[in-house]
Amino acid sequence: MPWLRTCVALAAALALAGSVSAGSAEDRTRRLVIVVDSEDDPRLALTREAIAFWNRTLDEVGVDLEVRQVELVVTSTQARAIETFARFVSQRGGRMPKGTNGPTPPEALAGLDGDVVMLLSRQQLLPFAWPLLGTPDYFVAIRQLERRRPGDERVLRNVIAHELGHTLGLSHHRTSFTLMCAPCSSVAAADEALEWLPLTELDRTRLRERYARE
Ligand SMILES: [Zn+2]
Repeated sequence: MPWLRTCVALAAALALAGSVSAGSAEDRTRRLVIVVDSEDDPRLALTREAIAFWNRTLDEVGVDLEVRQVELVVTSTQARAIETFARFVSQRGGRMPKGTNGPTPPEALAGLDGDVVMLLSRQQLLPFAWPLLGTPDYFVAIRQLERRRPGDERVLRNVIAHELGHTLGLSHHRTSFTLMCAPCSSVAAADEALEWLPLTELDRTRLRERYARE
């Protein structure tokens, strides 16, 4: 399925992602800011479903962590600089220097008060989750819904969950038919019935190690 291949170019960068300390109660929440053009955008519902998926999953895995939407930024002026940055990262992500030598996020992005900023982009870009220095510590960009493509809502909902998985510290692997696979083999017809692609046992272990309950 090509949609999960999209984010493979950024895999190397993800190794750099800062570790999330899991000490205080505040650190038990991943605060998500969503930037979107319109409150009517159908991707908002998909994003909320992906958040709910993660909170169910984190609970099942047995870690004390919550993904919470803290702000919805509906804007066209601020979004321009963020869109430009998203295009830059999406096109050059895999070939950019990381860390302090990496591209500086625009003020409009760096000034948002969340751990993760997710742009529901106006562009048909390759989705990604890009680690930043400081706070927010991740910038996620999501492509447009392809309304003419059958089943794209389900695909995009899994793409959003996949990118959120990166912001929780998960990286790619090659186990097909799973949420964090990249590159992935094409999905068999039977898998089309799956609402959410599953995590692997290694993903679950990783989450437990990272966010162990005290
Ligand atoms: Zn990915």
